Order: sequence, then structure tokens, then C-alpha cells
Amino acid sequence: MRAVAVFPEERAVRLVDHREPAILAPTDVVVKVLDVGFCGTDREIAAFRMGSPPADSPYLVMGHEALGEVLEVGSSVRRIRPGDLVVPTVRRPCRRESCRACRMGRPDFCLSGEYLQRGIKEAHGFLAERFADDARWLQPVPRELREVAVLTQPLALVETAITELDQVQKRLPWAALGETGGSGKRALVLGAGPVALLASMALVVRGYKVTVYSHAGRGEKADFAESIGAQFVTAEEEKLQTLAGHLGRIDVMFEATGASPDALAAMEHLGRNGVYLLTGVPGLRGAFTLDAGFLLHGMVQKNQVIIGPVHPNAEAFRAAIQDLGLFARRWPGALQRLISKRVSMEDAPDAFEHPASGLKQVVTVSE
Ligand SMILES: [Zn+2]
Ligand SMILES: [Zn+2]
Repeated sequence: MRAVAVFPEERAVRLVDHREPAILAPTDVVVKVLDVGFCGTDREIAAFRMGSPPADSPYLVMGHEALGEVLEVGSSVRRIRPGDLVVPTVRRPCRRESCRACRMGRPDFCLSGEYLQRGIKEAHGFLAERFADDARWLQPVPRELREVAVLTQPLALVETAITELDQVQKRLPWAALGETGGSGKRALVLGAGPVALLASMALVVRGYKVTVYSHAGRGEKADFAESIGAQFVTAEEEKLQTLAGHLGRIDVMFEATGASPDALAAMEHLGRNGVYLLTGVPGLRGAFTLDAGFLLHGMVQKNQVIIGPVHPNAEAFRAAIQDLGLFARRWPGALQRLISKRVSMEDAPDAFEHPASGLKQVVTVSE
């Protein structure tokens, strides 16, 4: 069967003839792939800056943001049936007996660092005609979400961040009373890519006043943000300094820019008791300079917290699927607009290497 793979040694990305998946254990499921989204991580992999094949393979099948339809299930699988739509999670446990996290089925908190990530680290991904996996790593998706469920994985990143935010902010005495502690909760989203816009939707439905702040110009991203009730400001229109001044206290900063130095420096404008959520994974592109003393002073004096949660667990995927349903009802057609381009499997290698600007790009594997 066909798959798109990266050959790190050869420095090539191309279609390969990959072995057909099969049910090998009673808990296995074989899935026909429908859509695979791609993101900055895939671009890093296609540029040979990250990504590692399984030990016995010269190549890594790419793709970690997938939607598929179940073809066949093992004899002990009850929760999922042939014909169901499913989204796979990405991380798989390490083999260490001593890793309590993985032994409890929580590779998102793997202690050894020897976890696998499908399509990223030592396990083949989903950009193939079919794949097999244990049923426990597959989340069922309602049929109504067929067109947009490929956005589940990036939204699961957002859900993970928001769950951790909620955990931390239980510390505020008024949070337990269901109060916002003033004039409503305010969030500043840094960046305007798919994760930033999905985060904006998730924060708007949770009652935050959201401002999206972007270095890109206006255009479709601004239209999108405004259509869901968020404010959109470009760096050209306004300096962060003055924006922070007239927004009022910023309770949450949601970084979705790829963790650029600028974004981290923006923490200077985070309000008292605020939380800074990092979701971008910076490439290893050398050191940058920040006034650490100033930031640390602010953190200690203003009770601030920085969290960098990027590994969603199954619960975050389920929350994402629920929220997609909520967003689809609240803003009909909006999620479709987040998918800006679809390409075929044949065109995928080229699309990874030469990304178009715009929002989420998706490989259509099967109609
Ligand atoms: Zn991704
Ligand atoms: Zn582990």
C-alpha cells in the first residue's frame, strides 16, 4: 500500500510501498485513512531537523494528525466497530518497567523519555492508505464531524493547555465561587495559525475576552478571528506595550507562534496571577537573549506561572472532539474555513517541503 515517508539518511521525502497493516492482537484495529493534517512539526521532519524512523526501518512514515474509518477490529474490541470514524492519539508508551506513567497508560507523562510518537519518533505515522493500532489509542468521532475532525489533534494540544490552566487557577479563591475576579477573564493569543485560532475558539466558548496578536498582516486570519468574536491586532498596527496598556489585566497568554523569543518576552505584559501557556515547539536554532532577571522578578512578584504542555492524552482528544461539535454548532462553517488547502498523497512530499501560507493544510488520502 502507498505511504509518504521521510528517509533522513538519504535526505528525501517520497511515496513508498509500505507493508499492509494487519490485526496481530485481539485488541488491534485496522483503519482506513481519510485525512491527514500537517503542521510545523511535519515541516521540521521534512527538512530533516527532527523525526526518527523505527529501529528496523530506513524510513519513517509521516503524519500524526489523522482521521480514519475503521475497517476491521480484533476479537476483543467492543468500543469501536467497522465503519466508525476514529482519530488516533500520537504518543505510545516506553518499555521501561520502572516508568510508572507509561505502565499506567499515560505516555504523555513518560518518565524515561523513551516513548514513541507515531509519525515523529521511532514509530510509523498515519500518512498511509491504512494503519493498525491498539483500540485504546483510537477515539471515536461522530459522523457529523467528518469534514473537520482532522483538526482534533491540534485542538487536543489546546485542550491540554486549558486543562492545566484550569488546574492552576483553582488556586484563586474566587475561582471556587465561580467568579472571574473582576471585569471578566481576558486572554491574549500570540500567533494566528491553526492552533492559535482553535485556542481562540476554545477560550471564547469558556467566556474569555480574546485578543489575537499576530506578526502576520490582516486578511483571512483576521476575518476568521473577528467572526468568532475575538479581536485581531497586528504587530504593525500596535506595539504590544500599548495594547497591553489599554486591554486591562491579561489573565492568560496563549503562545502559539513556535516559541519565538518575541513571544516569550511578551510575558512582561502578563497580569497578576496570570498564566503563560506555551504550545509552540521551537526548533533548535541557537540561543536567544531575554532579560531573565526581569521576567523572574515578575513571576515571583505577580504569582505568575509558565506551563508548556504539548502532549495531549486520550482525555484531551475526547475534549477536542466534544469542542469541535460545540464550535460547529456555535459557528457553522467556521471549522471548514480553518482548512485552507487539500492536497493528494502524490503532492504531499512537495507540499511538506514548500508549504503554502494560510491555515491548516490537509492531505486527502481517501474520499
Ligand atoms: Zn501537528
Ligand atoms: Zn515511559
